[in-house]
Amino acid sequence: MIKNIVITGGGGFIGGHLARRLINDGHRVTCIDIKPLSEWYQVHEKANNIQSDLSLKEECLEHLNGQDEVYNLACDMGGMGFIENNKALCMLSVLINTHLLMAAVEHGIKKYFFASSACVYPIHLQSTTEDINLEESLVYPAMPEDGYGWEKLFGERMCQNFSEDYKIDVKIARFHNVYGPHGAWNDGREKAPAAMSRKIIEAVDQNRDAIEIWGDGMQTRSFMYIDDCVEGILRLMESPVNTPLNIGSTEQVTINELVDIVGDIAEIKIKKIYNLAAPLGVRGRNSHNEKIKNELNWSPTISLSEGMKATYSWILKQYNKENQ
Ligand code: NAD
Repeated sequence: MIKNIVITGGGGFIGGHLARRLINDGHRVTCIDIKPLSEWYQVHEKANNIQSDLSLKEECLEHLNGQDEVYNLACDMGGMGFIENNKALCMLSVLINTHLLMAAVEHGIKKYFFASSACVYPIHLQSTTEDINLEESLVYPAMPEDGYGWEKLFGERMCQNFSEDYKIDVKIARFHNVYGPHGAWNDGREKAPAAMSRKIIEAVDQNRDAIEIWGDGMQTRSFMYIDDCVEGILRLMESPVNTPLNIGSTEQVTINELVDIVGDIAEIKIKKIYNLAAPLGVRGRNSHNEKIKNELNWSPTISLSEGMKATYSWILKQYNKENQ
């Protein structure tokens, strides 16, 4: 069935990829973002592309009129360097979700997707590099990442309350580090996979054999390639699941290992200089995928080295464009 779909944050990384898939699937897609179109990572000709500030209620009311589904991906966020230094800005994203939900009630939106994050999980469950269990139910008692994590947890609860009181079919994904082409790579909002790619590209270009690593490089993470993320979102939307679900990879690596994967792609043996004063985030994090396997009979499949090849190659092209 062809649907009218709004993607908020459509000029951003995940929104741009999701829009491509939904357009290819035949839907009528409207992408909305606060950034001018010239700054969107992807602008799809077949979408209705709108610049608008969705923290404003009247803008949400206008743009949700006549729509069937909303994918709310709009948010002020970035990698650890951004979220540790911009907690108030991160918190303000609550206005976007609040006004979108109010407009969704007003216009009888059938399904509403909310992009939550692994940052909602209690910090003390992520203080080692081993035995990380971020099962969905462990989010309470709550002690998430300050700023960004609290905003996401509040957003989840608000979605669930709107679902209970107004019967909106709400779907909530807790993304674990998503990466891939057409995202932030050099503006201070980039995450580790893009940052490591850019640093190694710069080192090669400038005949250096070392890059700076934040922390001791032993902190663990998992990274999910964007195509898996989009597939997970769509499977969740079609499922009867109505409680928050982890969508992330379980291929856990240390940051040192991530750097070595990128070094192999660039065919360079890179030395690591550790900056222990840099923003670090939690010590260890990995997705817990029992629920997604049970409920959707699926979990992400693209390996980190495979996904990093595509990511590195896209960042190299952007770097060369900027430095020719
Ligand atoms: P992104 O920054 O590339 O995209 C978010 C977009 O929202 C940006 O283009 C931004 O301009 C837009 N936006 C911000 N404020 C707005 C406003 N007031 N009105 C309209 N648009 C506004 O980020 P992303 O990586 O695509 O993430 C999408 C969603 O997924 C976000 O909610 C994010 O918190 C969540 N998430 C992402 C990751 C990840 O690893 N990328 C991990 C966990 C959760």
